[in-house]
Amino acid sequence: MPELNNGRKRILVTGGAGFLGSHLIDKLMEQGHEVICADNLFTGTLENLEHLSENPLFTFLHHDITNPLDVEVDEIYNLACPASPVYYQYDPIHTMKTSVIGAINMLGLAKRLGCKIFQASTSEVYGDPLLHPQTESYWGNVNPVGIRSCYDEGKRGAETLFFDYHRQHNIKIKVARIFNTYGPRMQPSDGRVVSNFIVQALCGQPITIYGDGRQSRSFCFVDDLIAGILKLMATDASVIGPVNIGNPVEFEMQELAHKILLLTNSDSEVVTLPGPADDPRQRRPDIALAKSVLNWEAEIQLEEGLIRTIEYFKVKLKRQGLNG
Ligand code: NAD
Ligand code: UDP
Repeated sequence: MPELNNGRKRILVTGGAGFLGSHLIDKLMEQGHEVICADNLFTGTLENLEHLSENPLFTFLHHDITNPLDVEVDEIYNLACPASPVYYQYDPIHTMKTSVIGAINMLGLAKRLGCKIFQASTSEVYGDPLLHPQTESYWGNVNPVGIRSCYDEGKRGAETLFFDYHRQHNIKIKVARIFNTYGPRMQPSDGRVVSNFIVQALCGQPITIYGDGRQSRSFCFVDDLIAGILKLMATDASVIGPVNIGNPVEFEMQELAHKILLLTNSDSEVVTLPGPADDPRQRRPDIALAKSVLNWEAEIQLEEGLIRTIEYFKVKLKRQGLNG
Protein backbone atom coordinates (compact mmCIF):
# COMPACT_ATOMS: atom_id res chain seq x y z
CA MET A 1 0.00 0.00 0.00
CA PRO A 2 1.54 3.39 -0.94
CA GLU A 3 2.35 5.79 1.87
CA LEU A 4 0.28 8.97 1.89
CA ASN A 5 2.13 12.07 0.66
CA ASN A 6 2.59 13.66 4.04
CA GLY A 7 4.44 10.61 5.39
CA ARG A 8 1.42 9.48 7.35
CA LYS A 9 1.27 5.72 7.67
CA ARG A 10 -1.61 3.48 8.57
CA ILE A 11 -0.33 1.24 11.36
CA LEU A 12 -1.82 -1.87 12.99
CA VAL A 13 -1.07 -2.35 16.70
CA THR A 14 -2.23 -5.68 18.15
CA GLY A 15 -2.66 -5.65 21.92
CA GLY A 16 -3.06 -1.87 21.74
CA ALA A 17 -5.54 -1.67 24.61
CA GLY A 18 -2.90 -3.05 26.98
CA PHE A 19 -0.25 -1.33 29.03
CA LEU A 20 2.56 -1.07 26.47
CA GLY A 21 0.33 -1.03 23.39
CA SER A 22 -1.66 2.00 24.49
CA HIS A 23 1.53 4.01 25.13
CA LEU A 24 2.88 2.97 21.75
CA ILE A 25 -0.35 4.09 20.04
CA ASP A 26 -0.10 7.49 21.74
CA LYS A 27 3.41 8.00 20.35
CA LEU A 28 2.43 6.84 16.85
CA MET A 29 -0.54 9.19 16.83
CA GLU A 30 1.61 12.06 18.12
CA GLN A 31 3.77 11.44 15.03
CA GLY A 32 0.65 11.95 12.89
CA HIS A 33 -0.01 8.35 11.90
CA GLU A 34 -3.33 6.60 11.55
CA VAL A 35 -3.66 3.66 13.95
CA ILE A 36 -5.82 0.56 13.94
CA CYS A 37 -5.80 -1.25 17.27
CA ALA A 38 -6.82 -4.93 17.35
CA ASP A 39 -7.39 -6.31 20.84
CA ASN A 40 -9.60 -8.93 22.48
CA LEU A 41 -9.66 -6.96 25.76
CA PHE A 42 -8.52 -9.98 27.80
CA THR A 43 -6.07 -7.94 29.90
CA GLY A 44 -6.39 -4.61 28.12
CA THR A 45 -9.09 -2.03 28.62
CA LEU A 46 -10.77 0.64 26.50
CA GLU A 47 -10.06 3.05 29.35
CA ASN A 48 -6.42 3.08 28.14
CA LEU A 49 -7.66 4.40 24.78
CA GLU A 50 -10.56 6.56 26.00
CA HIS A 51 -8.77 9.78 25.05
CA LEU A 52 -8.61 8.63 21.40
CA SER A 53 -12.23 7.63 21.00
CA GLU A 54 -13.20 10.79 19.08
CA ASN A 55 -10.01 10.87 16.99
CA PRO A 56 -10.83 10.13 13.32
CA LEU A 57 -7.33 8.72 12.79
CA PHE A 58 -7.92 5.98 15.39
CA THR A 59 -9.91 2.76 14.97
CA PHE A 60 -10.51 0.03 17.53
CA LEU A 61 -11.25 -3.52 16.39
CA HIS A 62 -12.44 -6.03 18.98
CA HIS A 63 -10.46 -8.90 17.54
CA ASP A 64 -8.59 -11.98 18.76
CA ILE A 65 -5.38 -12.48 16.77
CA THR A 66 -5.80 -16.25 16.85
CA ASN A 67 -8.25 -15.47 14.02
CA PRO A 68 -6.98 -14.07 10.72
CA LEU A 69 -7.27 -10.32 10.26
CA ASP A 70 -7.54 -8.60 6.91
CA VAL A 71 -6.74 -4.90 7.01
CA GLU A 72 -4.72 -2.62 4.74
CA VAL A 73 -1.78 -1.15 6.64
CA ASP A 74 1.80 0.01 6.10
CA GLU A 75 3.28 -1.43 9.30
CA ILE A 76 2.36 -3.90 12.03
CA TYR A 77 3.34 -3.94 15.71
CA ASN A 78 2.42 -7.30 17.25
CA LEU A 79 2.01 -6.86 21.01
CA ALA A 80 -1.10 -8.96 21.67
CA CYS A 81 -0.45 -11.47 24.46
CA PRO A 82 -1.10 -11.42 28.19
CA ALA A 83 2.23 -10.56 29.86
CA SER A 84 1.53 -11.08 33.56
CA PRO A 85 2.15 -14.63 34.82
CA VAL A 86 -1.26 -14.57 36.54
CA TYR A 87 -3.05 -13.94 33.25
CA TYR A 88 -0.89 -15.95 30.84
CA GLN A 89 -1.32 -18.95 33.15
CA TYR A 90 -5.10 -18.45 33.41
CA ASP A 91 -5.72 -20.08 30.00
CA PRO A 92 -2.30 -21.41 28.98
CA ILE A 93 -3.56 -23.02 25.80
CA HIS A 94 -4.94 -19.72 24.58
CA THR A 95 -1.66 -18.02 25.54
CA MET A 96 0.24 -20.45 23.34
CA LYS A 97 -2.31 -19.99 20.52
CA THR A 98 -2.01 -16.21 20.82
CA SER A 99 1.77 -16.36 20.51
CA VAL A 100 2.03 -18.97 17.79
CA ILE A 101 -1.20 -18.84 15.74
CA GLY A 102 -1.34 -15.08 16.34
CA ALA A 103 2.19 -14.74 14.95
CA ILE A 104 1.29 -16.85 11.90
CA ASN A 105 -1.78 -14.68 11.26
CA MET A 106 0.13 -11.42 11.62
CA LEU A 107 3.10 -12.65 9.57
CA GLY A 108 0.68 -13.84 6.88
CA LEU A 109 -0.81 -10.35 6.81
CA ALA A 110 2.66 -8.78 6.60
CA LYS A 111 3.48 -11.16 3.75
CA ARG A 112 0.38 -10.20 1.75
CA LEU A 113 1.00 -6.51 2.35
CA GLY A 114 4.80 -6.67 1.97
CA CYS A 115 5.05 -4.58 5.13
CA LYS A 116 7.39 -4.36 8.11
CA ILE A 117 6.35 -6.19 11.28
CA PHE A 118 7.52 -5.76 14.88
CA GLN A 119 7.34 -8.56 17.43
CA ALA A 120 7.15 -7.91 21.19
CA SER A 121 9.30 -10.78 22.39
CA THR A 122 10.52 -11.11 25.93
CA SER A 123 13.39 -11.77 28.30
CA GLU A 124 11.40 -14.91 29.20
CA VAL A 125 12.94 -16.57 26.14
CA TYR A 126 16.06 -16.83 28.35
CA GLY A 127 14.04 -18.74 30.99
CA ASP A 128 15.91 -19.06 34.30
CA PRO A 129 19.17 -17.86 32.75
CA LEU A 130 22.50 -19.48 33.50
CA LEU A 131 24.31 -16.60 31.76
CA HIS A 132 24.23 -13.23 33.50
CA PRO A 133 23.61 -10.59 32.22
CA GLN A 134 21.76 -12.00 29.21
CA THR A 135 23.09 -11.33 25.72
CA GLU A 136 21.02 -11.95 22.59
CA SER A 137 23.32 -14.82 21.59
CA TYR A 138 22.38 -16.79 24.74
CA TRP A 139 19.90 -19.57 23.89
CA GLY A 140 18.30 -19.69 27.31
CA ASN A 141 17.35 -22.21 29.96
CA VAL A 142 13.64 -22.87 29.56
CA ASN A 143 11.45 -25.61 31.02
CA PRO A 144 9.27 -26.81 28.11
CA VAL A 145 6.60 -28.42 30.32
CA GLY A 146 6.20 -26.05 33.28
CA ILE A 147 3.56 -23.49 34.21
CA ARG A 148 5.48 -20.64 32.51
CA SER A 149 6.08 -22.65 29.33
CA CYS A 150 2.91 -21.51 27.55
CA TYR A 151 4.39 -18.00 27.55
CA ASP A 152 8.13 -18.75 27.30
CA GLU A 153 7.84 -21.42 24.62
CA GLY A 154 5.02 -19.54 22.88
CA LYS A 155 7.23 -16.48 22.56
CA ARG A 156 10.19 -18.64 21.47
CA GLY A 157 7.95 -20.25 18.84
CA ALA A 158 6.88 -16.80 17.69
CA GLU A 159 10.53 -15.73 17.31
CA THR A 160 11.17 -18.87 15.27
CA LEU A 161 8.25 -18.03 13.01
CA PHE A 162 9.42 -14.44 12.56
CA PHE A 163 12.89 -15.57 11.53
CA ASP A 164 11.54 -18.31 9.23
CA TYR A 165 9.16 -15.87 7.50
CA HIS A 166 12.13 -13.54 7.12
CA ARG A 167 14.38 -16.23 5.63
CA GLN A 168 11.72 -17.98 3.55
CA HIS A 169 9.59 -15.03 2.39
CA ASN A 170 11.91 -12.08 2.94
CA ILE A 171 9.47 -10.46 5.38
CA LYS A 172 10.87 -7.31 7.01
CA ILE A 173 10.98 -8.20 10.71
CA LYS A 174 12.03 -6.36 13.87
CA VAL A 175 12.19 -8.45 17.04
CA ALA A 176 12.68 -6.87 20.48
CA ARG A 177 13.26 -8.88 23.65
CA ILE A 178 11.56 -6.72 26.25
CA PHE A 179 12.70 -6.91 29.88
CA ASN A 180 10.37 -6.15 32.81
CA THR A 181 8.68 -2.84 32.09
CA TYR A 182 6.38 -0.86 34.38
CA GLY A 183 4.51 2.42 34.48
CA PRO A 184 1.13 4.15 34.25
CA ARG A 185 -1.75 2.18 32.66
CA MET A 186 -0.85 -1.10 34.32
CA GLN A 187 -4.05 -2.47 35.81
CA PRO A 188 -4.27 -2.60 39.62
CA SER A 189 -5.13 -6.31 39.31
CA ASP A 190 -2.37 -7.01 36.74
CA GLY A 191 -0.48 -9.26 39.16
CA ARG A 192 3.05 -8.23 38.18
CA VAL A 193 5.39 -7.21 40.94
CA VAL A 194 5.59 -3.42 40.54
CA SER A 195 1.82 -2.91 40.32
CA ASN A 196 1.16 -5.43 43.11
CA PHE A 197 3.59 -3.78 45.54
CA ILE A 198 2.38 -0.24 44.78
CA VAL A 199 -1.30 -1.13 45.10
CA GLN A 200 -0.65 -3.07 48.31
CA ALA A 201 1.38 -0.19 49.78
CA LEU A 202 -1.23 2.42 48.86
CA CYS A 203 -4.11 0.31 50.21
CA GLY A 204 -2.30 -0.58 53.45
CA GLN A 205 -2.35 -4.27 52.54
CA PRO A 206 0.57 -6.65 53.16
CA ILE A 207 3.34 -6.54 50.53
CA THR A 208 3.54 -10.06 49.11
CA ILE A 209 7.09 -11.25 48.44
CA TYR A 210 7.15 -14.61 46.67
CA GLY A 211 9.99 -16.85 47.80
CA ASP A 212 13.01 -15.41 49.62
CA GLY A 213 12.85 -12.04 47.85
CA ARG A 214 16.47 -12.39 46.70
CA GLN A 215 15.47 -13.05 43.08
CA SER A 216 16.30 -10.11 40.83
CA ARG A 217 14.75 -8.23 37.94
CA SER A 218 15.80 -5.11 36.00
CA PHE A 219 12.96 -2.64 35.59
CA CYS A 220 12.48 -0.32 32.62
CA PHE A 221 10.11 2.64 32.67
CA VAL A 222 7.53 2.50 29.89
CA ASP A 223 8.58 5.76 28.14
CA ASP A 224 12.13 4.44 27.70
CA LEU A 225 10.84 1.15 26.36
CA ILE A 226 8.56 2.76 23.78
CA ALA A 227 11.43 4.99 22.61
CA GLY A 228 13.52 1.85 22.08
CA ILE A 229 10.78 0.08 20.13
CA LEU A 230 10.29 3.08 17.84
CA LYS A 231 14.05 3.32 17.22
CA LEU A 232 14.18 -0.37 16.35
CA MET A 233 11.27 -0.05 13.92
CA ALA A 234 13.03 2.91 12.24
CA THR A 235 16.28 1.03 11.56
CA ASP A 236 17.23 -0.04 8.04
CA ALA A 237 16.57 -3.56 6.77
CA SER A 238 19.94 -4.85 8.03
CA VAL A 239 18.70 -4.67 11.66
CA ILE A 240 16.18 -7.38 12.44
CA GLY A 241 17.05 -8.32 16.02
CA PRO A 242 16.54 -9.92 18.35
CA VAL A 243 17.54 -6.87 20.39
CA ASN A 244 17.31 -6.69 24.18
CA ILE A 245 15.44 -3.61 25.35
CA GLY A 246 15.48 -2.99 29.07
CA ASN A 247 17.13 -1.08 31.87
CA PRO A 248 20.21 -2.98 33.05
CA VAL A 249 20.06 -1.76 36.66
CA GLU A 250 19.17 -4.84 38.69
CA PHE A 251 17.22 -5.06 41.94
CA GLU A 252 16.18 -7.84 44.29
CA MET A 253 12.46 -8.08 45.05
CA GLN A 254 13.02 -7.30 48.72
CA GLU A 255 14.84 -4.09 47.75
CA LEU A 256 11.96 -3.18 45.44
CA ALA A 257 9.44 -3.73 48.25
CA HIS A 258 11.36 -1.44 50.60
CA LYS A 259 11.80 1.25 47.96
CA ILE A 260 8.06 1.27 47.28
CA LEU A 261 7.20 1.36 50.99
CA LEU A 262 9.48 4.37 51.36
CA LEU A 263 8.17 6.23 48.31
CA THR A 264 4.52 5.64 49.25
CA ASN A 265 5.18 6.43 52.91
CA SER A 266 3.28 3.25 53.71
CA ASP A 267 3.40 1.16 56.86
CA SER A 268 2.19 -2.03 55.14
CA GLU A 269 3.85 -5.14 56.54
CA VAL A 270 5.96 -7.34 54.28
CA VAL A 271 4.88 -10.99 54.11
CA THR A 272 6.58 -13.91 52.44
CA LEU A 273 4.58 -16.34 50.31
CA PRO A 274 5.82 -19.51 48.61
CA GLY A 275 7.81 -18.82 45.42
CA PRO A 276 6.10 -19.81 42.16
CA ALA A 277 7.47 -22.76 40.15
CA ASP A 278 10.24 -21.95 37.66
CA ASP A 279 10.49 -18.32 38.84
CA PRO A 280 13.74 -17.04 37.26
CA ARG A 281 16.35 -16.22 39.94
CA GLN A 282 18.02 -13.38 38.09
CA ARG A 283 17.48 -11.23 35.07
CA ARG A 284 19.44 -8.34 33.60
CA PRO A 285 19.76 -7.33 29.96
CA ASP A 286 23.07 -6.83 28.24
CA ILE A 287 22.12 -3.82 26.10
CA ALA A 288 25.37 -3.42 24.15
CA LEU A 289 23.53 -4.25 20.92
CA ALA A 290 20.73 -1.73 21.55
CA LYS A 291 23.36 0.91 22.33
CA SER A 292 25.30 0.25 19.15
CA VAL A 293 22.53 -0.31 16.57
CA LEU A 294 19.79 1.88 18.06
CA ASN A 295 21.87 4.40 19.97
CA TRP A 296 19.39 3.67 22.78
CA GLU A 297 19.60 3.22 26.50
CA ALA A 298 17.15 3.77 29.32
CA GLU A 299 17.20 7.25 30.83
CA ILE A 300 14.61 7.05 33.59
CA GLN A 301 15.88 5.32 36.69
CA LEU A 302 13.77 3.27 39.07
CA GLU A 303 13.04 5.91 41.70
CA GLU A 304 11.79 8.49 39.19
CA GLY A 305 9.75 5.89 37.31
CA LEU A 306 8.23 4.57 40.53
CA ILE A 307 7.23 8.07 41.63
CA ARG A 308 5.40 8.59 38.31
CA THR A 309 3.75 5.16 38.56
CA ILE A 310 2.69 5.71 42.17
CA GLU A 311 1.02 9.00 41.16
CA TYR A 312 -0.93 7.16 38.45
CA PHE A 313 -2.09 4.45 40.86
CA LYS A 314 -3.13 7.03 43.48
CA VAL A 315 -5.52 8.59 40.98
CA LYS A 316 -6.68 5.26 39.57
CA LEU A 317 -7.39 3.73 42.98
CA LYS A 318 -9.15 6.86 44.21
CA ARG A 319 -11.43 6.71 41.15
CA GLN A 320 -12.22 3.12 41.99
CA GLY A 321 -12.73 4.03 45.67
CA LEU A 322 -10.02 1.56 46.67
CA ASN A 323 -7.44 3.43 48.77
CA GLY A 324 -8.06 5.02 52.10
P1 NAD B 1 -0.88 -6.31 28.69
O1 NAD B 1 -1.46 -7.57 29.23
O2 NAD B 1 -1.18 -5.04 29.38
O3 NAD B 1 -1.29 -6.12 27.17
C1 NAD B 1 -1.53 -7.18 26.28
C2 NAD B 1 -2.69 -6.81 25.39
O4 NAD B 1 -2.91 -7.87 24.45
C3 NAD B 1 -4.00 -6.62 26.17
O5 NAD B 1 -4.66 -5.46 25.73
C4 NAD B 1 -4.81 -7.87 25.83
O6 NAD B 1 -6.19 -7.68 25.93
C5 NAD B 1 -4.32 -8.17 24.42
N1 NAD B 1 -4.46 -9.57 24.01
C6 NAD B 1 -4.11 -10.68 24.69
N2 NAD B 1 -4.36 -11.78 23.96
C7 NAD B 1 -4.89 -11.35 22.79
C8 NAD B 1 -5.37 -12.00 21.62
N3 NAD B 1 -5.35 -13.34 21.51
N4 NAD B 1 -5.87 -11.25 20.61
C9 NAD B 1 -5.90 -9.90 20.72
N5 NAD B 1 -5.48 -9.22 21.80
C10 NAD B 1 -4.97 -9.95 22.82
O7 NAD B 1 0.69 -6.56 28.61
P2 NAD B 1 1.88 -5.57 28.21
O8 NAD B 1 2.78 -5.46 29.37
O9 NAD B 1 1.34 -4.34 27.58
O10 NAD B 1 2.63 -6.45 27.11
C11 NAD B 1 2.49 -6.19 25.74
C12 NAD B 1 3.39 -7.13 24.96
O11 NAD B 1 4.75 -6.93 25.34
C13 NAD B 1 3.08 -8.60 25.18
O12 NAD B 1 3.24 -9.30 23.96
C14 NAD B 1 4.14 -9.03 26.16
O13 NAD B 1 4.45 -10.40 26.04
C15 NAD B 1 5.32 -8.16 25.75
N6 NAD B 1 6.23 -7.95 26.88
C16 NAD B 1 5.91 -7.11 27.89
C17 NAD B 1 6.78 -6.97 28.96
C18 NAD B 1 6.50 -6.02 30.11
O14 NAD B 1 7.26 -6.02 31.06
N7 NAD B 1 5.48 -5.21 30.08
C19 NAD B 1 7.97 -7.70 28.99
C20 NAD B 1 8.24 -8.57 27.95
C21 NAD B 1 7.38 -8.67 26.88
N1 UDP C 1 6.69 -11.23 42.76
C1 UDP C 1 6.58 -11.05 44.13
N2 UDP C 1 5.40 -10.59 44.62
C2 UDP C 1 4.33 -10.29 43.84
C3 UDP C 1 4.45 -10.47 42.43
C4 UDP C 1 5.65 -10.95 41.94
O1 UDP C 1 7.53 -11.29 44.89
O2 UDP C 1 3.29 -9.87 44.37
C5 UDP C 1 7.99 -11.70 42.23
C6 UDP C 1 7.89 -12.88 41.27
O3 UDP C 1 7.91 -14.09 41.98
C7 UDP C 1 9.14 -12.67 40.42
C8 UDP C 1 9.30 -11.15 40.37
O4 UDP C 1 8.51 -10.65 41.45
O5 UDP C 1 10.25 -13.22 41.05
C9 UDP C 1 8.79 -10.53 39.07
O6 UDP C 1 7.48 -11.02 38.84
P1 UDP C 1 6.54 -10.48 37.70
O7 UDP C 1 5.29 -11.28 37.74
O8 UDP C 1 6.42 -9.00 37.81
O9 UDP C 1 7.34 -10.73 36.34
P2 UDP C 1 8.22 -11.93 35.76
O10 UDP C 1 8.31 -13.04 36.77
O11 UDP C 1 7.49 -12.35 34.54
O12 UDP C 1 9.53 -11.33 35.50
